[in-house]
Amino acid sequence: MVDSVYKTRMRTNLCGEINKEFAGKDVILSGWVNKRRDHGKLIFIDLRDFSGTVQLIFDSSKNKNSYAVAKNIRNEYVIGISGKVRMRSKDTINPSIPTGEIEIVVKDIKIFSKSKSPPFMLEDRNKVEENTRLKYRYIDLRTNKMQENIRLRHKVAAATRKYLNSRGFLEIETPIMAKSTPEGARDFLVPSRLNAGKFYALPQSPQLFKQILMFSGFDRCYQIARCFRDEDLRADRQPEFTQIDLEMTFVEVDDVMEVIEGLFNYIFKEVLGKRIEKSFKRIKWKDSMENYGTDKPDLRFDLTIKDFSDIFKKSELKIFKDTLKNNDGCIKSIVVDDSSKLTRKELDDLVEMAKKSGAGGLAWIKIDEGMSFQSPIAKYLSDIEKKDLIKALSLKKKNLVLIVADNFITSCQTLGVIRKYLAEKLKLVNENEFKFVWIYNFPLFEWDESEKRMTSVHHPFTKPDENTISYLDTDPLKVNSQAYDVVLNGEEIGGGSLRINDANLQRKIFKILNMDEKRIKDNFGFLIKAMEYGVPPHGGIAIGMDRLVMLLGKLNSIREVIAFPKTQSAVCLLTGSPSSVTEEQLREVFIKIEEDNK
Ligand code: ASP
Repeated sequence: MVDSVYKTRMRTNLCGEINKEFAGKDVILSGWVNKRRDHGKLIFIDLRDFSGTVQLIFDSSKNKNSYAVAKNIRNEYVIGISGKVRMRSKDTINPSIPTGEIEIVVKDIKIFSKSKSPPFMLEDRNKVEENTRLKYRYIDLRTNKMQENIRLRHKVAAATRKYLNSRGFLEIETPIMAKSTPEGARDFLVPSRLNAGKFYALPQSPQLFKQILMFSGFDRCYQIARCFRDEDLRADRQPEFTQIDLEMTFVEVDDVMEVIEGLFNYIFKEVLGKRIEKSFKRIKWKDSMENYGTDKPDLRFDLTIKDFSDIFKKSELKIFKDTLKNNDGCIKSIVVDDSSKLTRKELDDLVEMAKKSGAGGLAWIKIDEGMSFQSPIAKYLSDIEKKDLIKALSLKKKNLVLIVADNFITSCQTLGVIRKYLAEKLKLVNENEFKFVWIYNFPLFEWDESEKRMTSVHHPFTKPDENTISYLDTDPLKVNSQAYDVVLNGEEIGGGSLRINDANLQRKIFKILNMDEKRIKDNFGFLIKAMEYGVPPHGGIAIGMDRLVMLLGKLNSIREVIAFPKTQSAVCLLTGSPSSVTEEQLREVFIKIEEDNK
């Protein structure tokens, strides 16, 4: 028998390692008391460490001292024992655990640490409120599920490092105390004691440092990087999260995609023992919006969106007529094969859902057995329109057509939401499938109505696409970018781009984003300056590590794969951060808190 890699001076093995091959051998084990059963002259204890549990037996007739200690032991005490492994009698074998054929007759026992009665039993984890689990995270993390999740995360990180190292990437750290360089979200600020009135910012990502490492000749680098964004936390976001962040020199879009496809292939094989497609499907942003109503399409099911605006050019129906008068007005639909799968109430819910997504409403048509239209709008449709519709959508008996007439984005997005809802409702998703897709050819800018200015769809360092760059001065919204997102099962798990490597172009982009010379100089002067000393073409990407591990583990919250996550209101229930600090600490960093905010 080979020595366990876990052997220390306080144990020969892990609890879960002991099986019938150990029968007759002496072992030393340490761990937590999972359960104690007092049978009078015999006391049984299930001893637990991360590897599993093993049954200990204390016999009053054989070893009085240990028996006496075991009498007073409770759940979650930490103990060490030595004893002899023996086979269990046939009728007490537990075939459901690997150690179920043996037990350990304890000679000596030592209590390392006592435990209060725990706030919840480990096996009750699913019944306990999440806030209680977060407050007593050290108990929660002892459960099999959390041990499994955090180990899964470790495996993903280890596989990532192994793969990227083998492709010539260097792991290079960059500052956590960084400069405030707004990338879209709000910065977390850190006051400086040595520089009165000045602040560091925690990095929203290592973006500019990883670019500057490329300017510095390192060729390719990566980080499993902690990123900080001070945003209101929508469901399943964390103020600090982790990205697999990488950057490469002398690359085109295909080069970055190939590395990521290789990385995912490696991670899936190493961590899940699963094969995935060698290269992923690619869909242009506009096509993804048109066909799936989102830039994060779930390709595990079909239900694509179809446009049939052309048929209704001369429609009598006011809503169709008015919509098509507008420049980007269109009429789009999703066809469900069997209308009986949705109740009348569910149809009404779909209408409400469409309104919530910003559309004026949702029209529906049921095709009956005789291929006639049952619908509140049927009487407004001409026979030719009906015929054309049947042909355009290849309609069959029993089909249900769901229609939205609105501007391009609203009609796409509304049907995108409905598509997702229907997939769940009609159980169209194969939960065991992993479907990747690249979305590319995004617009470079979008108009932010609330701020009345252009913003970057990706970030300001993204290179414009060569075919549309000529619109930069005349109609920037027409310029596309060389950015790409990788989507898995309808979740965006990463995004990146080729970067600008020309100081003048970078300055121009900042100006389109409404930054004046002073702001450009204050925030990004160092970047522009660095770009004046020879910058190679470069590009990169960041993969959301928390989300990736969550999807690999088929979990439904990123808090399940983060050892110490924060709540929706950005609070750590375990440590109580954020918390007040002393007047003295504040004075040292030149900060005064107004009475009202204390
Ligand atoms: N810095 C980007 C982000 O955090 C990723 C990238 O462009 O590489 O989303």
